[in-house]
Amino acid sequence: MTQIYNFSAGPAVLPKEVLQQASEEMLDWHGSGMSVMEMSHRGKEFISIAQEAEADLRELMGIPANYKVLFLQGGAHAQFSMIPMNLLRGKKTADYLDTGIWAQKAIEEAAKYCEVNVVASAAEQQYRQVPQQSQWKLNPDAAFVHYTSNETIGGLEMFWTPQVGHVPLVVDMSSHILSRPIDVSQYGLIYAGAQKNIGPAGLTIVIVRDDLIGQTIAGTPTMLDYKVHADNESMYNTPPTYGIYIAGLVFKWLKAQGGLAGIEKLNIKKSGLLYDYLDSTDFYSSPIALENRSRMNIPFTLKNSDLDADFLKQAQAQGLLQLKGHRLLGGMRASIYNAMPLEGVQALIAFMQDFERTNG
Ligand code: PLP
Repeated sequence: MTQIYNFSAGPAVLPKEVLQQASEEMLDWHGSGMSVMEMSHRGKEFISIAQEAEADLRELMGIPANYKVLFLQGGAHAQFSMIPMNLLRGKKTADYLDTGIWAQKAIEEAAKYCEVNVVASAAEQQYRQVPQQSQWKLNPDAAFVHYTSNETIGGLEMFWTPQVGHVPLVVDMSSHILSRPIDVSQYGLIYAGAQKNIGPAGLTIVIVRDDLIGQTIAGTPTMLDYKVHADNESMYNTPPTYGIYIAGLVFKWLKAQGGLAGIEKLNIKKSGLLYDYLDSTDFYSSPIALENRSRMNIPFTLKNSDLDADFLKQAQAQGLLQLKGHRLLGGMRASIYNAMPLEGVQALIAFMQDFERTNG
């Protein structure tokens, strides 16, 4: 059988070892006689799963004790509104950086609750490069500064952390969380939909400094109040139990890869191989500025776009799936999240070289 490699931008491409373990435990988790899906979320078995998942995430990311870890639902989209509802804390404006489609969605939603000051926009660089912080127009009265550290569609990643003084820094890390070490203490709030590097769609992770919660705007629904979830250890309502369980397995898998420093080395190697190849030929090209090339989502184009359909068809026949670029940008996109093995990237490059030889 052809070896399959899935280059999907999401939902979830999970490590094979995790899927294997989950399938072995599907009917009977650790001799409990129950599937994790059948457990009470308030029973001792599930509570041990959730606590271990949180402890492993805290260890992996080095999350300080004064930060809450929340396991929520609603995806990163729900965070686009929860963030202003919870973090405006009496202020009227918030700062947002525009790096592309996901940043713009966050901006659109925030504008329903406050005045949004767009500190800078990558539009001037056709969304191929993130503006340096020296070009940002920060507002000292802003309640927080929001940015998207990896634009999943555009393929722009930021490898530096903005310095915003005492104003809380809020970041959407949906598509590259856990791909490398970060310093959590530099942030007020970090959020991510689980469905790229963490686990199945349906789980959203929020890491928030505890002094920032408990001051929601009037009319905030109970379910959208971080404090309610923090006070109830993410069990105010039925949490996405199976998603939390799989996330816990992924965290253990990451620890076995040498933690975030270990997986970063592999991510540098994988993305480096693909970018080096893209730069070595004019048959393909990457549109993104060198310093912002995402290690997770790599858009590229063929010089002759008439060959796009053939490229995709032949790639699929060789087990290289879901390489079609986002509908808004066209071209190709190879998403190589943590779970993509080095061999998958090598197989993609070998195919691309072959395709170039026969069509170049
Ligand atoms: N932010 C980023 C960077 C994303 O990549 C996505 C989805 O792909 C979202 C937000 C939206 O996430 P969700 O579908 O979980 O609401």
